[in-house]
Amino acid sequence: MRVAFVGLGIMGRPMAANLAKAGHEVSVWNRSAGKEVEGARVASSPADAAKGAEVVWICVSDTAAVEQVLFGPNGIEQSLTDGMIIADSSTISPAATRRFAERVANKGVQYVDSPVTGSKVGAEAGTLLFIVGGSEEAIERLKPLYAAMGKKIFRMGETGKGQSAKIAMNLQIAMIYEGFAEGLTLAAKLGVEPATLVPLINASMVKSGVVEYKAPFVLQRDFTANFPLKLMRKDIRLALEAAKEARVKLPGGETVEEIYEMAVEDGHADLDFAATLMLLEKWAGVEVKGQAA
Ligand code: NAP
Repeated sequence: MRVAFVGLGIMGRPMAANLAKAGHEVSVWNRSAGKEVEGARVASSPADAAKGAEVVWICVSDTAAVEQVLFGPNGIEQSLTDGMIIADSSTISPAATRRFAERVANKGVQYVDSPVTGSKVGAEAGTLLFIVGGSEEAIERLKPLYAAMGKKIFRMGETGKGQSAKIAMNLQIAMIYEGFAEGLTLAAKLGVEPATLVPLINASMVKSGVVEYKAPFVLQRDFTANFPLKLMRKDIRLALEAAKEARVKLPGGETVEEIYEMAVEDGHADLDFAATLMLLEKWAGVEVKGQAA
């Protein structure tokens, strides 16, 4: 298929590379110049990337960035033609997603929100899970592309529902990780080595996919971004905004949001969200001792 891919960050670049590797005709665009994908044409603007494409795939930071690449100067909208599909793998506001979908529908374009889970490792390995909202017919047409980038798709309902499910998921990831980080900090302060605690966690009902993924990085004190802390903060905020609109109270989420605010103030915005541990360590006056790599 002819696919335009807009946004070559931690996630977008390997996703676009997997599309090209699977034999699709890919054009790519990134805001900052200098990012390329082997086998893909580098476009001069989002509109240029989308010209002649059957599908436009977006993976940028946040709601404002998606709006910008769609409707800003030289945006994707300029190149939209009847029958095209837009798939958005950014994690953004469900309400904004529905607005964007209505606007492009005027041009006969379908919009499928397709946020992902699986992080950098899943994007590189082509094993992402897609959390999808849109018409069954459009999703069917996108299946060869999902297959090139991921291992499974979960349809949550109509457009916007993929984002709704995704922000509910990420709220849980942030809270599960905070539980792990607080447990590690307390154990360290009480003199229990993290390298002794983690195997116990993994052998008990406390185990979780979040701990399984994050513990090796934490034990090596590798806080380089797999999923930047500032983006997890954005997702917690999206969840709290959606909760407010729906009149749902999320007290645990509100507390976790405050922890993220303080972690950003401490200069950890561009580190992995696992770096919220460093704030707990500072407060406790203890360091969760790492292991040599
Ligand atoms: P990232 O590495 O920070 O990349 C962000 C991308 O968005 C870059 O290509 C950036 O361009 C672009 N961008 C930001 N603002 C823009 C704007 N105003 N106009 C055009 N482009 C803009 O982030 P990422 O980790 O790939 O995440 C991308 C999306 O996937 C986010 O919504 C995130 O929440 C979601 N996600 C991430 C993960 C993960 O583990 N990393 C997992 C699931 C979902 P520049 O290169 O010019 O900065």
